[in-house]
Formats: sequence, C-alpha cells, structure tokens
Amino acid sequence: MKNLKNALLLKQLYLLKQLGYKYTALTPFKEDEPDLSLPDTLDKLKKQAMGCHLCQLSKSRTHVVFGEGDINAELMFVGEAPGAMEDSSGKPFVGRSGELLTKMIENVLLLSRSEVYITNIVKCRPRNNAEPTPAEAHTCQPYLLKQIALIKPRIIVALGATAYHYLSGDDSNISKVRGSVLQKKEYILIPTYHPSYLLRNPSAKKDVFEDLKMIKGLL
Ligand code: URA
Repeated sequence: MKNLKNALLLKQLYLLKQLGYKYTALTPFKEDEPDLSLPDTLDKLKKQAMGCHLCQLSKSRTHVVFGEGDINAELMFVGEAPGAMEDSSGKPFVGRSGELLTKMIENVLLLSRSEVYITNIVKCRPRNNAEPTPAEAHTCQPYLLKQIALIKPRIIVALGATAYHYLSGDDSNISKVRGSVLQKKEYILIPTYHPSYLLRNPSAKKDVFEDLKMIKGLL
C-alpha cells in the first residue's frame, strides 16, 4: 500500500502548493499508521477507481477503464493503457488492437472475451497514447494488484513490454522473454507481444500464436 499512501501524500502536497504554501511541516505517512487498504470486492474497488484523482491522467480522461470479464477467470490479460476508443467507451481493448485480441482469444484459445478478464497497467488514457510514466504506473499499481488478489487468475498474460515490466520488475526486451513461463508466487506470468505491435508487424503473429497455443495447453 506504500504507493497509494505516497500518492495520497503527493496529492495533499499539491493541494497545499496550489493554496500558496511554500513550506509545510506535514509529516509523511508512517508504516504503522492505519492501513489504507483497498476494498475487498471488485465492485467496490471499481467504484473507488472511478473516483480516483491520484495522478495527472485523471485530468484528461473521459472514463476510467477499470477492466472487464469473468471475476473468477483463470486467465487474465494485462495491457498497457486505454486508448481513445477505450477512453470514450470505458471498456478495455475495444479499438483495433482490441479486435485483434478478441480474435486471438476466440480463435486460438477457443474462449469468449467474457470468460477471461482484461485490464491494463493504468486505468486512464495517457494523452496522445504516450507510454504511462513510472509515477503513473506505480500510482495505479495498487488497483491492479488488488484486482489480481481478488480474481486470483492462474495465468496472467502480459501484453507487451510495459505490462511485462510493471508485472515482473524486469526490463528485458519483450522479444527475448516472450513465450516464457514465469512462476510467480500466486500465478504464472507469460509475456507476449502487444496486439498493437502485431498490427504494425504482422509477421510476429506466428510467435503469439505459438504463445497462445502453449497457454491453451496450460489451461
Ligand atoms: N491498448 C492497451 O494496452 N490497452 C487497451 O485497453 C487498448 C489498447
């Protein structure tokens, strides 16, 4: 919960700055202070995320794109951040890369979108589809970690380098790690290419096809 506490502290400090304060004796949160833990149901967590203003992305969003799918899914997909279509609809992966992700789920895994859970590293659209900054990703991380803790997927597929980086802490090139099966404490993490990369590089689709077939075997 440290990220959430830090983000709340930062928000307080910004408010004081806007009010004209140049100095404050405000003390940082201490580890033994009451836990600011997030709600224990996905509905309540979503409600909280909908009202979140902990980072800059909240200022320009139309909708918070929390995530959707089976709340008991064995398989979770994590992308990078909502794009324009997602921002206007409030749903993850509904644009061109979403269409491709849906086809991959239906045609290779032989599942429907409603049988898996789909979300992103950050829940609000970065301006101009920029990669989320580390501060934005870390501020949003408690929501993702709580989603994972509540849904308890057996397998998480990291779609692209950004999702892989923030889920694993590893900076390796996605082309080096894609298709690897990483046993984490609570789930298996499998990185693969992001669908929008596949739209730009169709020749990489065969690699993702192999990754998905391997995932199908694990399910
Ligand atoms: N790209 C993402 O990473 N996530 C979305 O929801 C849409 C596009």
